[in-house]
Amino acid sequence: MSNFIEDIIESDLKSGKHKSIVTRFPPEPNGCLHIGHAKAICLDYYGTAVKYGGKCNLRFDDTNPVKEDEEFVESIIDTVKWLGWNGDIYYASDYFGKMYECAVKLIKKGKAYVDDVTPEQMKELRGTLTEPGKETANRNRPIEESLKLFEDMRAGKIEDGALVLRAKIDMASPNINMRDPIIYRVVHARHHRQGDKWCVYPMYDFAHPLEDAIEGITHSLCTLEFEDHRPLYDWVLKECEFENPPRQIEFARLNIERTIMSKRYLKKLVDDGIVDGWDDPRMPTLPGLRRRGYTPSAVREFCERIGIAKANSTVEAGQLESCVREELNLTAKRVMAVLDPLELEIVNRNEDFAEPCLVENNPSDEKAGTRTVTLGKRIYIEKSDFALDPPPKYHRLTLGGVVRLKGAYIVRCTDCEKVGGEVTKVYAEIIEDTKSGGNSPVKAKGVIHWVNKADCVDIEARLYDYLLKEGDEDKDFSERMNPSSLVIKQAKGESCLKDAKPLEAFQFMRQGYFCRDLKNTERLVFNRTVELKDSFKPKK
Ligand code: ATP
Ligand code: MG
Repeated sequence: MSNFIEDIIESDLKSGKHKSIVTRFPPEPNGCLHIGHAKAICLDYYGTAVKYGGKCNLRFDDTNPVKEDEEFVESIIDTVKWLGWNGDIYYASDYFGKMYECAVKLIKKGKAYVDDVTPEQMKELRGTLTEPGKETANRNRPIEESLKLFEDMRAGKIEDGALVLRAKIDMASPNINMRDPIIYRVVHARHHRQGDKWCVYPMYDFAHPLEDAIEGITHSLCTLEFEDHRPLYDWVLKECEFENPPRQIEFARLNIERTIMSKRYLKKLVDDGIVDGWDDPRMPTLPGLRRRGYTPSAVREFCERIGIAKANSTVEAGQLESCVREELNLTAKRVMAVLDPLELEIVNRNEDFAEPCLVENNPSDEKAGTRTVTLGKRIYIEKSDFALDPPPKYHRLTLGGVVRLKGAYIVRCTDCEKVGGEVTKVYAEIIEDTKSGGNSPVKAKGVIHWVNKADCVDIEARLYDYLLKEGDEDKDFSERMNPSSLVIKQAKGESCLKDAKPLEAFQFMRQGYFCRDLKNTERLVFNRTVELKDSFKPKK
């Protein structure tokens, strides 16, 4: 099924309006990219450029010298490539010269003028949805005078805010964006690429169409909030006399439940130290999702599934999770790790007992093969897999009860030790002839995971949850922080985990999908990417 953007592109190709398609992804380098940007990249690159054999530029919209940072430029390039994008990189600031020429051209045509309105006056004179705006006296200033003042602005003779250049369109337009918007302003600030070369900077609504036209973009895809700006986009290109101008098409922004994507908010979380940087695995940023264990293919699959629409909506967080879970189910190696260790001693074996047990690496992938784990006299099991006072239908270990140790034997619990009310150790006996793979004389209803005390490794498992609590949507986000968005477990893992590579994915059986952290590599830190499907989780 094609979407409305594909329909437009196909008709433009068919009519010969365009011979090939050129799109762009235009981030402002004032933060790391987030999952919403992934939707835009997937559409600009995979959904159009790749699909129609065209190209997609990565263009930094770096026209605001005050808010931008070189650090984000590198991060954005890395992230876009990680998602699979391939193409040319451009910087809007490289077009400042051409943009300035376009502004001069507008003044000469009587389509722009220099004004001295303050932001407050501008607001007042702009009018409302029901009332037209008011013209300032400078609107009819002679062209020569505006040219001279604009030159003074560029030459550094004017203070910040003292003069602005405005497009001369229509103060009575029903569209407020068309009421003589500011297109250039004076800002004495150092630009991260241009240095001190400029002290006049173009406004977004003037700069963006020019950037698109200069690069020969055919279809400029952006989010819905720009719909009302489209007449201005078209006006700029027409008055600056670009032939075969690009066409702006809007689509719905991605919103996900319990997830705030605005960069202003994400930046605050980082600056206030609430999270451990832009790539904290709880962040909805792409560097965060990557560190959490999301793969580029899972992110692309998500963008594909949510599709492109003309109306804003909110996607369930579970949709993103299922994309990565479905992929990891096919690819992640299964291992055993015990997050809340409880020692179990096998009473009917000697201290030197060490029996190899064969376990599958991935039941969803035959080619993944098997590995051997050792069962010794002492192992760790999960605290929650033993209950003194079991609830109904508890199929795990109880005093006198039986359970199968994954890949090994059925054991019967003979005793336990307690300190205070808490069980600190359990004793169990192996029931002979019950090794996995054989014909067992007895049956156990439950299977639990375990690790061997003698050769397991200490690991740190980081369990993540939403950064925001559920509900409270009208409250400020500082009151909505989820206090258990990160729970750290000092856990025990199967010995093979010591060779895990950064970002290598595993399924910790019965626990969830985890990957080795990209940072903290001096220790064995594993980030939980996503939990298993609810029905596979042990019941609490
Ligand atoms: P934010 O509001 O998070 O600061 P932005 O729109 O200011 O985002 P830009 O760097 O300007 O961020 O965005 C680059 C491109 O990504 C734009 O074309 C924008 O429309 C698109 N984009 C940003 N957020 C989303 C989103 N949530 N869903 C889809 N596209 C998005
Ligand atoms: Mg923006």
